[in-house]
Amino acid sequence: MARFKLALQPPEVLAAVQSDLMPSAPDILVISNDGLLISSARRATGSRYSLEIAPDADHPLLPPYSSSGTIVIDDNVVPEAHRAAKLTALRARAPHASLIYVATNHSLAYERWARVMGVDYYVSRPIEGESLSLVLARFLEHRAALRGDAQGSKAEKNTMKTFVMRELDHVGIVDKPIPEPGPNDAVVKTTRALICTSDSHTIHGAIGPRHNLTLGHEAVGIVHEVGSEVNRFKPGDRVVVGAITPDWGDLASQAGHSSQSGGALGGWKFANIKDGVFADYFHVNDADANMALIPSEVSDESAVYCCDMMSTGFMAAENADIPIGGAVAVFALGPVGLMAVAGAKLRGAGLVIGVDSVPARQELARYYGADLIIDHVRRDPVDEIMKATRGEGVDAAIEALGGNEPFQNAIKVTRPGGVISNAGYHGKGEFVNIPRAEWGVGMAEKTIRTGLCPGGRLRMERLLRLLEKKKIDPTRMTTHRFSFGEIEKAFATMDKKLDGIIKPLILFD
Ligand SMILES: [Zn+2]
Repeated sequence: MARFKLALQPPEVLAAVQSDLMPSAPDILVISNDGLLISSARRATGSRYSLEIAPDADHPLLPPYSSSGTIVIDDNVVPEAHRAAKLTALRARAPHASLIYVATNHSLAYERWARVMGVDYYVSRPIEGESLSLVLARFLEHRAALRGDAQGSKAEKNTMKTFVMRELDHVGIVDKPIPEPGPNDAVVKTTRALICTSDSHTIHGAIGPRHNLTLGHEAVGIVHEVGSEVNRFKPGDRVVVGAITPDWGDLASQAGHSSQSGGALGGWKFANIKDGVFADYFHVNDADANMALIPSEVSDESAVYCCDMMSTGFMAAENADIPIGGAVAVFALGPVGLMAVAGAKLRGAGLVIGVDSVPARQELARYYGADLIIDHVRRDPVDEIMKATRGEGVDAAIEALGGNEPFQNAIKVTRPGGVISNAGYHGKGEFVNIPRAEWGVGMAEKTIRTGLCPGGRLRMERLLRLLEKKKIDPTRMTTHRFSFGEIEKAFATMDKKLDGIIKPLILFD
């Protein structure tokens, strides 16, 4: 078990050494004691941290704070009236650091408030008056244990924690070597990731058995290492990596179907044909073409939605060829359906109809631009959509679930000449059925279009631009936040869709 030596020393002693010690961002900053003192801790040898105190938090102490650092705030010493302002200021100053909030008293409402203020880890003091050093030491020890961060030996430095599919229906944490880049590749240190419903499909066998395959395909991070032929990126860059990482030299890519490079769905590599992103580090092929720099105004939490949810949901709207002012129906309002709603609005739809029975999803769909919501459990969605369009049907219907019934309904409600755009992952059953009569016995010019999440730098840059210009805020879909150490719990919650979960964010540090 790792041990941390924490010594909070008097400011006057440390003021002397502070100037020499602070030029680069330390591993940890602590805001504590008299409310305005900051300590900096730097990993010394092995697993020891030494803490040095520097005066005043609002002050140039925080060098432009780097992405992978950690800040600790002790609420014990920040007057209640100043806490919100302090957190806001810190977040603005160090938007990408991990923020640990040590609370004097614990309540769920307080924890929620702290999370809303951008706190990544909320730690309550189990013993009243317990010193920050002890609380922090325990937290660091806990985190180190989670990360297998022990004596700092060479072997340990080269291994990392990964969350894997051990076999069908079984997941777990496994140590693996940190990957190394080939000439055109990069290795990225993960900072934020999202769990996707397709990870659940995978562990339940939708793409067949896998053995100790690292899960996950939605992540952002910091470039750790690049190959000799990578020109556009360097270690330290903050990047988003598409969930789909095509081989851009492949013929399918050259023909404009990069997601299908190397065969059907071949652009889908993470957690399919190679290790995914639920790991301290992950490998990216064709790095120059598959990564995009995250603009400084865009947070990791927001950017991570570009990987899949925004790309896939918007693709559904793009494939739907929605005329300006046209009517569109979106079947299922999970994260992809919600982004399809947002995409339909961005594409100029005049009427957006969302179909789902879950109140929280319905509310989000309204926020993202749905004009009408139909609860398909209470009412027949086909009847209701036909009524809402004066019996004509919609110009386009988007299937965002991967279910036989919604797929058939999408065909039924689409007017002749319209488009059925499929974004759903049909993970079960042998066939997907087409209703013969409503399909105009094959001659009503109802086009069925399909697609897999587009990847690539250009795509990611366009999506990031929407975030930078504040055209959309995908973080409204983040219902849950977990540390990487809690990923099994996060995964189980997502797998069973418990606790009103829509999208769980995983925080790495
Ligand atoms: Zn996904």
